[in-house]
Order: sequence, then C-alpha cells, then structure tokens
Amino acid sequence: LSTAAAALEEPITPPVQVNYTKLLINGQFVDSASGKTFPTLDPRTAEVIAHVAEGDAEDVDRAVAAARKAFDEGPWPKMSAYERSRILYRFADLIEKHNDEIAALETWDNGKPYEQASLGEIPMLARLFRYYAGWADKIHGAIVPADTPHHVQVLHEPIGVVGQIIPWNFPLLMFAWKVGPALACGNSIVLKTAEQTPLSALVVAKLLHEAGLPDGVLNVISGYGPTAGAAIASHMDVDKLAFTGSTSTGKIVQEMAARSNLKPVTLELGGKSPMIIMDDADIDKAVELAHFALFFNQGQCCCAGSRTFVHERIYDEFVEKAKARVLKRVVGDPFKKGVEQGPQIDEEQFNKILHFIKSGVEGGATLVAGGERHGDRGYFIKPTIFADVKDGMEIAKHEIFGPVQSILKFSDLNEVIKRSNASPYGLAAGVFTQNLDTANTLMRALRVGTIWINSFDIFDAAIPFGGYKMSGYGREKGIDSLKNYLQIKAVVTHLKDPAW
Ligand code: NAD
Repeated sequence: LSTAAAALEEPITPPVQVNYTKLLINGQFVDSASGKTFPTLDPRTAEVIAHVAEGDAEDVDRAVAAARKAFDEGPWPKMSAYERSRILYRFADLIEKHNDEIAALETWDNGKPYEQASLGEIPMLARLFRYYAGWADKIHGAIVPADTPHHVQVLHEPIGVVGQIIPWNFPLLMFAWKVGPALACGNSIVLKTAEQTPLSALVVAKLLHEAGLPDGVLNVISGYGPTAGAAIASHMDVDKLAFTGSTSTGKIVQEMAARSNLKPVTLELGGKSPMIIMDDADIDKAVELAHFALFFNQGQCCCAGSRTFVHERIYDEFVEKAKARVLKRVVGDPFKKGVEQGPQIDEEQFNKILHFIKSGVEGGATLVAGGERHGDRGYFIKPTIFADVKDGMEIAKHEIFGPVQSILKFSDLNEVIKRSNASPYGLAAGVFTQNLDTANTLMRALRVGTIWINSFDIFDAAIPFGGYKMSGYGREKGIDSLKNYLQIKAVVTHLKDPAW
C-alpha cells in the first residue's frame, strides 16, 4: 500500500514574497476595525506564512458603503462599456505579466502543485477576464413587439452591490468566476476570500486597480465565515449574493439572505459526481481520466469524479490498472518539478479525510492503495483507492474532498443511471463508452449540470458550470453567468401616434 513518493525533504523556499495582508476597502489596504489578524498557514509544514487583517461586520459595513458609493455615484456603472472592457483586458495582460509570482503565492498558501498553477490556473484566470472583457460592451436589452400601442424596451442594468463568498480550493479561479461577470455587467463588489487562502486575491485585486479599476468597485475582505461571511450574506445594502462552498453553508447563507433583504442568491455547492465506465470503454484512457477526475487538486474539487462506477465485465482489470496508476502518483513538495499532489489545505480537512478512510475500512470496502498520511509533516495524504464500495457506505454518499477514489461495480445501463442519480447532489458526471447510443442515453438521463464524455474536467470561460439539486443553482462562466448580475427593467412608453 505504498506510493512512489519518498519521505518529505526540506520544504523548498517559495520564490515570492507576501506584500499584501490588509483588507482592501475603497482602493486602499487598511487594517481591520478591530485591529485583529489571523494566521494563514503553509499546508506543507503547518507553519505561519503571514498574519492577515481579520475582517468582521464593521469592516464589511465600510466595504459595502464604499461599494455603494462607487455604484451610485460612479464612474464604474456609468462608464462606457468599452472603457470597462479595456480595463478588464489590461488586467488580463497584467495577470500574464505576473503569472509566475501569482502562481507561487497560490501554491504557497494552498498547497497545489506550482506547475499546475503556473501552466493551468493562472493562464486560465487571464482567459476568464478576457472572456468577460469581451462581453462588457455586448450586454444589452431589447425592443419587444408587445400587443399594445406602446414602445416597449427591456433594459439590462447592473444589479448593484454584489456580495461574493469564495472557497479555498481554487482561490483565484473562484475569484475570476465571480468577479469577471459582475464587473463586466457594471456592478460593484464586496468579496470575502476563504480564511485558509487569503493571499492571492489581494495581489490580483491590486493589479486590477493598476489596470484602472476605480476605487470602491472591488473590496476584498479576509476573514472567517460566521463573522465576515455572515455580515455580507445578511447585509441590508448588498443587492445580490453569490456563494461557493459546502452545501451546509449554502443553506445558511441563503437563509440569511432571505431573512435580511431577500437578496437573490446563486449557489455553487458540493458534489458526489459519478464516473461511469462502460465495458466498451477504452480502458486505459478511462483509468487515467478517472484517476485525474478524482485526484486532481488533491481531490479538492467540487466536481471530483468521486463515485467511479465500473462495469462488472472490466471491473477487476480496471481496479488493477487504477492501483498501478495510483502507486505511480508523485506526492511531495508542490514547488518541486514533477510533483502531482501536494498537501491538503488544512488540519480540519486532513482529519476529515482520514476519518472517511477509516470509515471505508470499517464499512467493509477493500483498501487497494494508500489509506494513511504521507510523511510526518504538514497535511499530506497518500492517494487512496477503495474497491468493492457499496452505495450505502459513508465514502460513497458524502463529499470527502480528498484523494480517496471509491470504485463501485455495476452490471447494466439502467441500473447505473438509477444509482448515479440517487444522490442529493447533481454537479457533474463522466461517461466512458465508445457507443454513441449509450453516450446519448446517459447524456439525457443524468441529472447533473455538466457531463464530460470520454473526457473530464474540461473547463473554459465559455462553458457554463453549476449544479442540479443540492449542488446549488445558477450558472457560472459563459453567457449564463451574466444573468446572475443583471436586473431587467421593462420600459413602456406611450406613443402619441402608434401608427408610426
Ligand atoms: P465552507 O462552505 O464552510 O466555506 C466556504 C466559504 O464560506 C468560506 O469563505 C467560508 O469562510 C465561508 N463561510 C463559512 N461559514 C459561513 C457562514 N456561516 N456565513 C457566511 N459564510 C461562511 O467550506 P469549508 O468549511 O471550507 O469546507 C467544508 C467542505 O465544503 C469541504 O470538505 C467540501 O466538502 C466543501 N467545499 C466545497 C467547495 C466547492 O467548491 N463546492 C469548496 C470548498 C469546500
């Protein structure tokens, strides 16, 4: 049950410095009203990287007031859409210019492999902002041919002050999915980063100001959920709330939104996504992509393919090949070249994952690989595989959010459709088959927001993403995310001479 990774060596010194640790309110970096700070840790070692200003309700009030002023008095929502778009394009150029230092900070604070951050996520950040820069001057309403002698227009307006609460698994992509469309539509923002990963958003927010964003349009609050997060969700002067995180917190923030000013909410929550491998699939490709679908980002993906359903005819071969693959997975210092898997984000997640592993063993699943911590420092966990997993087991029902692959057996298409859909979640699914009819059936039958066929985790700024059922509602990315940030106004004008 061992992996290819050797014992942990001395941590590599990150090639970057922490320059920003304060709250960003009205274009200025400021201390929190209470003067309090909290530590953000290096998940490789559990050592403190920096102490960060801890925002709370009073800071959120200041940030919302700044965002309100920036919205009501402008210039942002009143600026020409082309000018807004140019600022977003300039920002994307600055992201590219600072790609490597942003990636290094993200790796340091989050633990994700530097190669993945610098070659994947940060370039994708620039792509996302260019995509929304492109939209800024193409958002418009319509003239409607109503059955009345009036001139009827539908205006699309920014919704106002937007509250955004994001998680720690993809700190900057979550920033971009929320900030990009909100700014393109002309809104102002109060964004709370996750307490585990406050650093990178401060750097990119600074670059956004360098690109020309007016003060007060984007305010960034570091702090905890029940204090700063709750203050945003329940604020009477926040016009819209967008949240990504756990389903349980999603329910809390939706309730807060309802109890305060009924602000509309969009939620991107957890998942337990099925990965369906039919017996006609290209098995080597399916093994590799099922591995990627689960282990990518240390298993900390809301859409992780965390129920690997394999047809009984190829089950044993699949498990053997999945085991061979996982034993080759390189775990180690995420700054080291070739490392595929870094540490989990923090002690809480680390313990939660080990607890699930224990429950898998006790529940009667077969431990095929891994099953314990990796090394003796930080939050590393050996990539783990369970076979003979049954639907009722804890590891098959709950979001583990860690490097634990559960392989289940099925025998026919209708059965796997039923079992896949028998989950309170509905975020994503993977389908592996060479048969067009099977693919088409699954594509229509699975109640999830994204289906990857003979592929997985293909993301692009233009592809909408979001959940069915308790995985949330609303879509991010693509044209659909603009709808989250727009008000629609009908204007009906009396015509003196309707004949014209
Ligand atoms: P979480 O939902 O508690 O945190 C997400 C964000 O919500 C953070 O910014 C947090 O500070 C904030 N928050 C927490 N409590 C809040 C409250 N009462 N009011 C307002 N904001 C609040 O998630 P977590 O504790 O970081 O992780 C727990 C589990 O959530 C994970 O194990 C995983 O299953 C899931 N998760 C899912 C995603 C996703 O992308 N869907 C991301 C992170 C975590």
